[in-house]
Amino acid sequence: MGLLGEILEHNSRFVAERERPMSKSPAKKIAIFTCMDTRLVEFLESAMGLRRGDAKVIKNAGNTIIDPFGGVIRSLVVAVFSLGCEEIYVIGHHDCGMSQIDGDALERRMVERGVDPQVIRSLHGSLSEWLGAFRDPCGNVRRVVEVIRQSPLIPRDVPVHGLMFDPARGRLDPLVNGYAALQGR
Ligand code: ZN
Repeated sequence: MGLLGEILEHNSRFVAERERPMSKSPAKKIAIFTCMDTRLVEFLESAMGLRRGDAKVIKNAGNTIIDPFGGVIRSLVVAVFSLGCEEIYVIGHHDCGMSQIDGDALERRMVERGVDPQVIRSLHGSLSEWLGAFRDPCGNVRRVVEVIRQSPLIPRDVPVHGLMFDPARGRLDPLVNGYAALQGR
C-alpha cells in the first residue's frame, strides 16, 4: 500500500474527528518565513506559542531568497495585501542543511540519477549558488531580512524581524528587531 496509502487512511480518520473550519486570515496577523527542516515541523510553531489559524507560514530550503521577484516575495505580497499580515518573521536555524551542502557531491548524485549535466551547467551561477547554499545561517537571515525590507513590493511600514532557532532545544534568539529597524527608515 506504501506510505501514500497510510497517509490517506490516517486522513479519513482525521477528517471524521474535525472541528469546524476557521478563517484563512491569520489571527495574529503575521507571516513567518522559515526553513523546510524536518525538525521544525510542529515544533517551531509551539515554541513561538502559535496555534493553527494564527500565522501564514512560508518555507523553503534554508529560508533563503535568491530571486527578489520570485516565489517567496510573491507569497509575502499575498500575505500582506490579501490576508492582512502586519509583521514578517524570518526564522533561520542552527545546523541548517543548506549551510552544509557540497555542490560537487550533489551534482554527482544528480547526474548518477539521470539529470543532464548540460542542464546543471546552464543554471544561473554554480549549482550551489542556484540552490542558495550559504555558510553562515545567521548571515543568511540578516541578508534575507534586508532583501525583504528593500523589496519595492513590500510596504515600508511592515516590521521585518530576523531570528535564529535551535532545532534541538527550541530556543529562539532575536537577530534583527524589525521595530527598531523601522524607526531608522
Ligand atoms: Zn534548514
